[in-house]
Amino acid sequence: MVLVLATANRHKIRELEALLGDLPFQLCPLPAAAADPPLPEPGPTLAANAEAKALAAAARTGCLALADDSGLEVDALGGEPGVWSSRFLGEEATDSDRTAAILAALRTYPWHGRTARFRCAVAVADPTGRVLCRSEGVLEGFIAFEASGTGGFGYDPIFFVPELSRTLAEAGPAVKNRISHRAQALLGCRPVLAALAAQAGLAGQSPA
Ligand code: IMP
Repeated sequence: MVLVLATANRHKIRELEALLGDLPFQLCPLPAAAADPPLPEPGPTLAANAEAKALAAAARTGCLALADDSGLEVDALGGEPGVWSSRFLGEEATDSDRTAAILAALRTYPWHGRTARFRCAVAVADPTGRVLCRSEGVLEGFIAFEASGTGGFGYDPIFFVPELSRTLAEAGPAVKNRISHRAQALLGCRPVLAALAAQAGLAGQSPA
């Protein structure tokens, strides 16, 4: 059974493949034809964006689709950039522009004023327009004083996880995939995905 990963972000695809790889799905990236126009992100929340992307990807491909919308919430910035995490400096900005802007905004903040969290919303939809699962995951941490580490993507080099005593970018993919906001969000959808896969398996075995 095909499960379309409704994102154009290759880093997310790699993480989703690692996190879902044990389930009996054929994981497929969003085909180019289904990625144009870009999947809708109407807001106002990560959950609403995940749902809209999953529904659009399922409708455009005719397959089951899973979407993720994620953001970094910095308490000193009133929870920003949050749902705007990919766009808060405009479409042309790079990951390093965005991490530099967060570091600059928190320049004068001591350690205890640098609390932050990653939040991830996941939704699974089918081509008939049903949302089969919604789930969220959160990873608490701090904004580091400087970027560190080369793993991961996005804000990982400035996201310090106290339990690991290092940034997510220093932790490496196996550790990140054990604790991440994305891993926790997917845990909530696993029972539904496992049931869908089992149903498809049974349907495949039944006599014609
Ligand atoms: P979106 O969910 O694709 O809209 O991504 C929102 C923004 O958050 C982008 O700038 C991503 O690079 C960033 N982001 C999403 N997930 C992660 C993550 O796991 N680590 C670091 N940055 C992330």
